[in-house]
Amino acid sequence: MESLATEILGLNIQELTDLVANLGEPAYRARQLFQGVYKDRIRSLEELSTFPKFLRERMKQEGISLSTPVIDKKFVSTDGTIRYLIAFPDGQSVETVWMPEGDGGETGDGSDAGDEEESHSGLPKKTYDRATICVSSQVGCAVNCQFCMTALLGLKRNLSAGEIVGQITTVLNDHSVDLDKKRINIVFMGQGEPFNNYDNFIKAVRLLVEGVGFPQSRMTVSTSGIVPRIYDLGKEDVRPKLAISLNASNDVERTKLIPINKKWDIASLVDAAKVFPLRNRERMTFEYVLLDQENDSPQNAREVVQIIRGLGDKQASAKVNLIAWNSGPEIPFNTPSDSRVHAFQKVLTDAGIPTFIRRPRGRDIYAACGQLKRTTA
Ligand code: SAH
Ligand code: SF4
Repeated sequence: MESLATEILGLNIQELTDLVANLGEPAYRARQLFQGVYKDRIRSLEELSTFPKFLRERMKQEGISLSTPVIDKKFVSTDGTIRYLIAFPDGQSVETVWMPEGDGGETGDGSDAGDEEESHSGLPKKTYDRATICVSSQVGCAVNCQFCMTALLGLKRNLSAGEIVGQITTVLNDHSVDLDKKRINIVFMGQGEPFNNYDNFIKAVRLLVEGVGFPQSRMTVSTSGIVPRIYDLGKEDVRPKLAISLNASNDVERTKLIPINKKWDIASLVDAAKVFPLRNRERMTFEYVLLDQENDSPQNAREVVQIIRGLGDKQASAKVNLIAWNSGPEIPFNTPSDSRVHAFQKVLTDAGIPTFIRRPRGRDIYAACGQLKRTTA
């Protein structure tokens, strides 16, 4: 007989239906499995209380397993951010970051995730207990952005859909989160380029929406600019919001910082953004890492204004998130002063472009943007 050996975490309802059919069980068992693994976030088959013991035993004998990822290490920042080192059975590991109160990346994005901050005057209006989880999509990354520490790892391998979802369920369980009570945002901004692992990434998104119970409006994916996949994302009926890492104001500079700009330049990014279909009230974000004396002059800011104006109709839906570079060893850039960051922001806001400064989270424990390279001390 054909072996049924398989890993359950990462299977969708269709695949679970096939699995239980092969076991000779009725279809409702697939729904119970789906509910147990994703909504109830069980950690092992033993916790699957809707299944009789004999059935769980049989599954085990057939080699059907549920292996949720394991927290290898946990680093806690003075600002409350937690960097998790999450390990997989093959010995690889990635980082997942928990940011209580988010990182400000949500601000002004037109969704319910950002609204409460947009409406404030002074201190953020806290209507909900909230947090943001930053998830990895690959072990390491192949894109080789010159300012990013993940690039130093190179690409080790892709993560499966189950490994992406598992990072989130594991972190949610570590905080005993009740998703009905707490407002959690997910950002695909950890290790890796999500669009270089597109199929697993988008499968994970569907499992998070249909299984775990996240609204798609509370998820954002960031890409370094894999243009064909931006078009693909636009065709998905379930998808996160889009953030594009612009990071430079002209092609000469961008090619220097992000080598794939040779293949997909700024004009091709703008073309893709122009036709990207947005949902009601949805915004698209352009991220810009500010590197001192490198891409952070007022002239650079004026060039960014021109790029955003090139979006035509979509200009009104665009916002810019500025991230002052988070430093790391072996990387030859500097963090700009606050005054340079504010001067850059002013050029954009004066041109009518909503522009926000991302608050660095967890810099002291190597948890901030671009610092994820499995530092273990
Ligand atoms: N690979 C994807 C998503 C992960 S990086 C991407 O590149 O978009 C998330 C964001 O952090 C990106 O906008 C990236 O440009 C930025 N980033 C990378 N290294 C950084 C650093 N050292 N300091 C600040 N931001 C950085
Ligand atoms: Fe990869 Fe993003 Fe880092 Fe670039 S910034 S190397 S795409 S993780």
